[in-house]
Amino acid sequence: MEARVAMAVPTEKSEVLAATKTPTTLSSDSIINVARGDPALYEPYWKKQGDRCKLVTLGDELMSYFSNAVNLCWFLMPELDRAIRELHHVVGNAEVDDRFIIVGNGSTQVFHALLYALSSSGEHVPVNVVAAAPFYSSYPEETEFLQSGLYKWAGDANCFDKDGAYIEVVTSPNNPDGSIRGTVVNREGGKSIHDLAYYWPQYTPITHKANHDVMLFTFSKATGHAGSRIGWAIVLDKTIASKMVKFVEVSSIGVSKESQLRAATILGVISNDCQNPELEEENFFKYGRHLMSDRWEKLREAVMKCNGALSLPEYPQGYCRFTGKYTDSYPAFAWLKCKEGLKCEELLKDKCKIMTRGGTSFGVEETYTRVSMLSSDAEFNLMLERLSAIKGTIHGN
Ligand code: PMP
Repeated sequence: MEARVAMAVPTEKSEVLAATKTPTTLSSDSIINVARGDPALYEPYWKKQGDRCKLVTLGDELMSYFSNAVNLCWFLMPELDRAIRELHHVVGNAEVDDRFIIVGNGSTQVFHALLYALSSSGEHVPVNVVAAAPFYSSYPEETEFLQSGLYKWAGDANCFDKDGAYIEVVTSPNNPDGSIRGTVVNREGGKSIHDLAYYWPQYTPITHKANHDVMLFTFSKATGHAGSRIGWAIVLDKTIASKMVKFVEVSSIGVSKESQLRAATILGVISNDCQNPELEEENFFKYGRHLMSDRWEKLREAVMKCNGALSLPEYPQGYCRFTGKYTDSYPAFAWLKCKEGLKCEELLKDKCKIMTRGGTSFGVEETYTRVSMLSSDAEFNLMLERLSAIKGTIHGN
């Protein structure tokens, strides 16, 4: 048992289960956990929507394994298929026409399905999987976990110099640093997975309709409904799509229909509101942008008060086709850097009782740490208070 604990690497998921949770009632002594990206900030919006997202199911409903036996992705509910396609049409963030939608238990399962589908073409050596650092901390663990003979984690794409097949994972906007990214390896025979979890208008300007061969999205970050465990891939190639379906079939025989219907209902409410000028104020993305912009402004103010002890990246404006305006980026995570020589995660934990996830989890130095911008208002405000006071604490020692 002890050996297992010693081997555990802190990741998004293990952190969700194991980390100290921020207590419900906060005090000046409370530990604030912003290491996770749990999207609590959207709860007040959905509470306000009341019955609009209510779903009632009777005992005899949704009993079959099958959702649509004639569809390639036979466990995908037609309601969710339609809602996903409609929302992408309304937002203009991804091409969905003439492509397959594959649903999974969170985009985490869809990622596993993709690793399998993209690497199972009969090669006798494991396909290298890379991502440019700083990369989402779960990719290495997810890739290594089963010790598959089909694929293996090969680290930072910027340093990748091996021959042969590879898969590059591109996250844009990136988790943890919010940067807009494309592939960096660009070699013959390479495949890519474009994880677009944060390519939604509350986080970034929608500058173009993404049309990669393989794109990954998640209900968790689009609307904040992480607990429903719904993610989807938009896939061009039929053979890849079929292999992904096989993977989900073998690992979980499909995806909860209750969750799919809930996702379809909520995505449908958002699409309708976005297309109804009378409901403009209710539009989820507009609300989300407002919230994120307010939080980023406050965080930048708090960091300014630290007099150089901490710094944040700057992001260029872009023309957002969804809002029809030039807009700023408000990433779901803040990528904090401490002045040279300081270990940022340790510093925030020791001086401010703020738990974050340090740079080494993302393949870079300890001077960086990642802070969730999606926490509850109470957690976020207490975090700001403590960050604003950090200058004094550093100099005090
Ligand atoms: N990709 C990225 C870039 C993420 O940040 C996350 C969630 N932290 C996921 C995938 C996993 O999302 P899900 O909840 O759908 O499994």
